[in-house]
Amino acid sequence: MSRVTTRIRTVIRDGRIIHHDRTISWARADRIAGRRLDRRKNYCVIEGHVCSAVTWTQRCSGCSEGLLDDRGGGCGECGHHGVVRCSQWLPDDGSEPR
Ligand SMILES: [Zn+2]
Repeated sequence: MSRVTTRIRTVIRDGRIIHHDRTISWARADRIAGRRLDRRKNYCVIEGHVCSAVTWTQRCSGCSEGLLDDRGGGCGECGHHGVVRCSQWLPDDGSEPR
């Protein structure tokens, strides 16, 4: 189920970054974005910017030897896969990626 959240605040506790997000309505999110958002995607409104999640897979920093390795040898950090799944919110103005 897709949803839209807005970031209330971010705190750092015990060296960890903790985001406090709250779900908002699609109607409110559409008004902020100035367009109808894609109901199949997740969004987060951060500092007034509508962001969508970008995910990718990368080599595990815990078990890979060099920057050119596609994957590491496997360790506890990556569940012995040699790669980790990452995601990041990025501003989304509705245009297609170039
Ligand atoms: Zn690893």
